[in-house]
Amino acid sequence: MKRILVTGGAGFLGSHLCESLLKDGHYVVCLDNFLTGTKDNINHLLNNQHFELIRHDIVNPVYLEVDEIYNMACPASPLHYQQNPIKTVKTNVIGVINVLGIAKRAKAKILQASTSEVYGDPDVHPQTESYWGRVNPIGIRSCYDEGKRAAECLMMDYRRHNAVNSKIVRIFNTYGPRMAINDGRVVSNFIIQALQGADITVYGKGTQTRSFCYVDDMIKGLIAMMNSPDDFFGPVNLGNPWEFSILELAQKVIKMTKSKSKIVFCDLPMDDPAQRKPDISLAAQKLGWKPVVDLDTGMETTIEYFNTALKLS
Ligand code: NAD
Ligand code: UDP
Repeated sequence: MKRILVTGGAGFLGSHLCESLLKDGHYVVCLDNFLTGTKDNINHLLNNQHFELIRHDIVNPVYLEVDEIYNMACPASPLHYQQNPIKTVKTNVIGVINVLGIAKRAKAKILQASTSEVYGDPDVHPQTESYWGRVNPIGIRSCYDEGKRAAECLMMDYRRHNAVNSKIVRIFNTYGPRMAINDGRVVSNFIIQALQGADITVYGKGTQTRSFCYVDDMIKGLIAMMNSPDDFFGPVNLGNPWEFSILELAQKVIKMTKSKSKIVFCDLPMDDPAQRKPDISLAAQKLGWKPVVDLDTGMETTIEYFNTALKLS
């Protein structure tokens, strides 16, 4: 049994990861400051004797003895990180230094949840790991994009200078049950609007693209990367390469929910990437990983989840 720390463990991805690691027979320490995550996401794990919850902010140092660390702590939706931009940078720099400090002292392996946002508004398509990106350093997304780029830099410098066994995954848009109702991300927004019969808010003309990965596939990818040989440390893209325009997604949600909602077109936010699709050949080659859940199947489960969540809220 390994002792595994999941920072951001009460969030969307973190809670699924905690669940999966417990199922695999490990002892899980979930650390979260509940900035965007919630106790509801992990309530069902609290009675498990191999599960421990610590309310803590990684911007402050913490001393723990663990074998592995998944560093998931960071607000992920543009709405949330733009509401707290300075905190977002602190989490990705001071917070990451603190978590790397645990890894260094405890000689723990650490996996950093990086993001497709390190590619910015890309002029290479699909995005490969060798592409250095096109990021606006002073825009409204910079706190997240540059924060995550700094976090990658720290992972590599601790590896080179302090012999920390660090690994980096670049996560592309992932969706599924336990996304926060109010987080403003496109999948949750569209489903909630459709279920409530409200207008579906497509930003810009809806021609921008994203590729959506179901949460179960993503969790398998994260664990596969952690368990991969030490000489493979990434960065590696994880995501579903099936690319859709945002307008297509809106139409799909209306159809699947049998909603009477109308599509309305709103202003496109600053620096919104025009296209995004992962090249996952490295993950396939090194991890033997590829996503298996198609968008219709994943959306069905997610719609069901929000249907129940809305009734309870
Ligand atoms: P989320 O907001 O649901 O989860 C983030 C969790 O981190 C929350 O529980 C939050 O309370 C916690 N947190 C934030 N700042 C913290 C701090 N300073 N100290 C302790 N806890 C803190 O988001 P998510 O979608 O689950 O994303 C998890 C990770 O994966 C993030 O690092 C995100 O950048 C990365 N990621 C996610 C996606 C995606 O599509 N879901 C895409 C790319 C990258
Ligand atoms: N988007 C939209 N309507 C919404 C929310 C998002 O059209 O109500 C668009 C957004 O402009 C972006 C895409 O959907 O082009 C994905 O947005 P999200 O916030 O989910 O994540 P991003 O990939 O931009 O970080």
